[in-house]
Amino acid sequence: MDIILFGPPGAGKGTQAKILEDKYGLKQLSTGDMLRAQIAAGTDLGLKAKSVMDAGELVSDEIVIGMIKATINTAEAQKGAIFDGFPRTEAQAIALDNMLESCDRSLAVVIEMQVADEELVERIVKRAEIEGRSDDNVEAFKNRLAAYRSYSAEVLPYYKAKNLHQLVDGARGVDDVTINLCQILDDLS
Ligand code: AMP
Repeated sequence: MDIILFGPPGAGKGTQAKILEDKYGLKQLSTGDMLRAQIAAGTDLGLKAKSVMDAGELVSDEIVIGMIKATINTAEAQKGAIFDGFPRTEAQAIALDNMLESCDRSLAVVIEMQVADEELVERIVKRAEIEGRSDDNVEAFKNRLAAYRSYSAEVLPYYKAKNLHQLVDGARGVDDVTINLCQILDDLS
């Protein structure tokens, strides 16, 4: 089963993806995590991406599509993937459809995790203290939120038109959100 967790920065996509990975045997594929790993490893790709990420803007479709292509059909992802932070453009969404189709898979659902802006800011401030991410500062966060508003308006209609979109209230506690997500996934399988 392949699913997308879609939502603004701080919505809890990563937290929930890790829980669902264990419960359903799926593989979390987070383009943000992959990019941060490239930065940590000091690769050319990481160097290129860092300034874009620090500004809260989107890295190129070519880079993120390439990263998903390299991981979508690994042994760990055979039972399906949880796409976290991908796709963020319609071109990425189309590329994802094609990549899944070429391994005889297709998306089961796109779950939008909705959280109000004020709550997101609070969460990001907390995460900055814990994880020390260089793009978790107020200025970059504003850009990431603005970017989210614009790319969600591009990507969500694509999935709504395919009847794949479901909305979840992400403002509740982690456990309540997990229960809700599991209901959706259990209904699908
Ligand atoms: P995230 O961890 O998903 O919040 O991503 C952190 C940053 O990585 C984003 O602000 C973007 O700069 C970049 N990024 C992650 N995923 C994508 C994507 N699918 N398309 C473009 N940029 C991305």
